[in-house]
Amino acid sequence: MKDVVFDAVSLFQRAQRVSPGGVHSPVRGFRKVGGTPPFMVSGEGALLKDTEGRSYLDFCLAWGPLLFGHQCPEVKEALHKALDRGWSYGTAEPYSLELAEWLVRHLPWVEKIRFVNSGTEAVMSALRLARAVTGRQKVLKFEGCYHGHADSMLVKAGSGLAEMGIPESAGVSPRVAEETLVIPLNHRTALETAFERHGQDLAAAIVEPIPANYGLLLQEDWFLPSLAERCQRTGTLLIFDEVITGFRIGLQGMAGRTGLSPDLVTYAKVLGGGMPVGAYGGKALWMNHVAPEGTVYQAGTFSANPLGMVASLAMVQKIKREIPDLSLTKRLKQWKEALESFAKKQGIPLQIATESSLFWPILGQTSGPVRSPEDIPASHAPQYRTLFHHLLARGVYLSPSPYEVSFLSTAHTEAQLEKSLEAFQESLLLL
Ligand SMILES: *Cc1c(COP(=O)(O)O)cnc(C)c1O
Repeated sequence: MKDVVFDAVSLFQRAQRVSPGGVHSPVRGFRKVGGTPPFMVSGEGALLKDTEGRSYLDFCLAWGPLLFGHQCPEVKEALHKALDRGWSYGTAEPYSLELAEWLVRHLPWVEKIRFVNSGTEAVMSALRLARAVTGRQKVLKFEGCYHGHADSMLVKAGSGLAEMGIPESAGVSPRVAEETLVIPLNHRTALETAFERHGQDLAAAIVEPIPANYGLLLQEDWFLPSLAERCQRTGTLLIFDEVITGFRIGLQGMAGRTGLSPDLVTYAKVLGGGMPVGAYGGKALWMNHVAPEGTVYQAGTFSANPLGMVASLAMVQKIKREIPDLSLTKRLKQWKEALESFAKKQGIPLQIATESSLFWPILGQTSGPVRSPEDIPASHAPQYRTLFHHLLARGVYLSPSPYEVSFLSTAHTEAQLEKSLEAFQESLLLL
């Protein structure tokens, strides 16, 4: 495609004729920010290049997997070698074994692990397992947490504090939604009430240990330990959905940082380094119920695909060697502080929520930290749209939705970060 120029507008028209919304995952279609998405043809380091030859500093990074930027050399080399051995066997093979042993060695709460192809699949499988081993049907989730698109997770809160969920998507059976209890994040009474009323019926409570799918909703310190304690008391399995936080917030994710041993954990995104890899794992006591050892059926033609397995091993080994979290946290903090102090001087209400290499600019007056969807100021969404497009015009690609976090990678250079600050400052002045 190198020498051919395609304009995004006509590509998008063509794409919309043959695919819903012109894309294969909704946010890519720019509905949340408006306009036409650029069509990207290559990525290298921290840069994406589109069909019109424009370059963008990428802060979306494929929605998380690219902790080391595009074309991480170690992952690329592993993939090249693997290609020469063929790319799908559908048999027992040593590549998943090596990865599984490595993960079990480094993640104490994972005694056994099963590889799948996405975060959605990992969550769906973990929930099925939780229902099977507890003999219970209901699952607790938190408003604002995303766990992929399995039916039982596409559920929003009904009215009241501890209500049964209602479908959030057309096509989800209300009967399935009813089995999911949805309560607000960071809310003591709701948590207490939910466990008092339903604790004996809960197969699992699932949580993003750092909620990063409705902006970045940083929780107070009491929240996770309190949830873990209630799970333990009621025999409810605690599932940490570490699809975003896993291998990003340090090698051991939030399970490692908090020391709260979840019963089951789900991984994807960073784990595959850009290849479609997901995983669920946990105590052998539970995992032994998965087929063919046990009676919980779960399978996959492409599961533990050799390309994904070698990419994953290269990723986790590099993360262990280089501990990217440390430098990324520091660099992002400096960048955030520079931007917030600029905004303050200009009288622009801006708060940038950060955690490790995750960030989320919040536009508008807030009365403190934003910890749940209701705390997000009404001005945020329209202003984010404007900011997004001013940045895009300056070659900076933020995640294209007011409610999605953005990411910093180790591939972003100091010079690129400096330039992005200028672009942000110019764009903020145009709000
Ligand atoms: C992205 C995400 C998922 C879904 O993963 P897919 O690979 O997109 O299916 C699930 N849980 C969390 C926390 C995620 O961020």
